Amino acid sequence: MKTDNSEQADVAIIGAGPVGMALAKALAEGPFRVLLVDSRRRRAWESDPRALALSHGSRQILEQVGVWNSDAGTAIHSIHVSQRGGFGRTVIEASDYDLPALGYVMRYRDLAAGLYAGVESIDLIDDCRRIELTIGSRAVEIRLSRGEETRLVAARLVVHAEGSPASEAGVRVFDYRQHAVVAEVRPVPGHANRAWERFTPDGPLALLPLGDDYSVVFSLPPDQAKRLQDLAEDGFLAALRAQFGGRLDFVTSSARASFPLALRIRRQLTAPRQVWVGNAAQSLHPVSGQGFNLGLRDAWELAEALCRGAGDDAGAAPTLAAYARRRDLDRRGGMAFTDGIVRLFSNDLAALRLARGFGLQALDIFPPLRHFIARRMIWGARAWL
Ligand SMILES: Cc1cc2nc3c(=O)[nH]c(=O)nc-3n(C[C@H](O)[C@H](O)[C@H](O)COP(=O)(O)OP(=O)(O)OC[C@H]3O[C@@H](n4cnc5c(N)ncnc54)[C@H](O)[C@@H]3O)c2cc1C
Repeated sequence: MKTDNSEQADVAIIGAGPVGMALAKALAEGPFRVLLVDSRRRRAWESDPRALALSHGSRQILEQVGVWNSDAGTAIHSIHVSQRGGFGRTVIEASDYDLPALGYVMRYRDLAAGLYAGVESIDLIDDCRRIELTIGSRAVEIRLSRGEETRLVAARLVVHAEGSPASEAGVRVFDYRQHAVVAEVRPVPGHANRAWERFTPDGPLALLPLGDDYSVVFSLPPDQAKRLQDLAEDGFLAALRAQFGGRLDFVTSSARASFPLALRIRRQLTAPRQVWVGNAAQSLHPVSGQGFNLGLRDAWELAEALCRGAGDDAGAAPTLAAYARRRDLDRRGGMAFTDGIVRLFSNDLAALRLARGFGLQALDIFPPLRHFIARRMIWGARAWL
């Protein structure tokens, strides 16, 4: 491998999204020279319309890496879960777990801004239109093209944090044939820090408290999603009322945006001198808000594994193998949980409606079952160990 005139890094993180930046920040205090690379211009996330539900466990990680911004997050004190057109409901309360909140809702752009401020001291190469990797036995040569400029970097380890992968070899894809329509709406009366997860035959509808508003995530078949997205404000609010029922009213809405939804699972988390984290490793349906929380745990545990294991070689194979083993249960749990919910709830079969009703009722009257699920959502697989 040619390394003359090339820059040296221990860890090159490709993808400066929330997971890549969280990893960079977690590594910043350690012995590694870290480089961040992104294909978009810096701060491109400022136009991202989604809000994310962050679990209490994610708050703890963000606090530990020093980028938790409590002003940007709205606490979730309870979550009400129900299905449209069927019986059964349950409520999960933060007070049952001795926590100030089950989680927090934050705009993607506010989360990214906090992380970005935290990685200012780290070299970030943005707007890289072409990134070529040559894998060697002791390092990866990375050729970065940015406009007319080309940079060569030799890195011990490449971390892929580029977000959802395309359909490529090594990635299993299941298209949910749903798009998520997102918007911010003003509820009347106020939300009292309660989130709602309402299952409809078309797909799940989530309302997450955000400031004085709710962030709405409505998953629907693509044609219906398109119609909903194109409706004028009044029409959108009327459609929301029809799906949500009469417990709340909604008076204003922001513009709508939509995201196609698919499960994308990378079969192998590691390859020689490479590792995949966050959405690049697994992209999940947004139901129950697992994706970023899982990706943040990837970042945290990778940082721990690198600091614990590598000596002077961040890309050492035993370190990567140990990391992949550690992430297996949490990853599988997160994928099975969200995928199972989507398949069980996104249909109008009478028998399944009945089974769902009994399931929700069982969660309500049998607290250990409810606690089992709630703890998983708060802490990931750590809750089961
Ligand atoms: C509608 C919706 C609602 C959601 N709600 C929740 C929620 O409530 N809770 C939750 O935990 N999760 C939620 N998620 C999932 C969450 O958004 C993702 O899990 C999270 O954004 C993943 O972060 P990431 O950094 O891995 O990837 P991304 O956020 O996709 O960031 C990837 C970064 O890599 C860059 N990049 C892309 N390609 C390349 C390339 N080839 N080279 C270099 N850089 C590249 C991009 O510019 C970007 O900066 C939701 C998702 C959607 C769609």
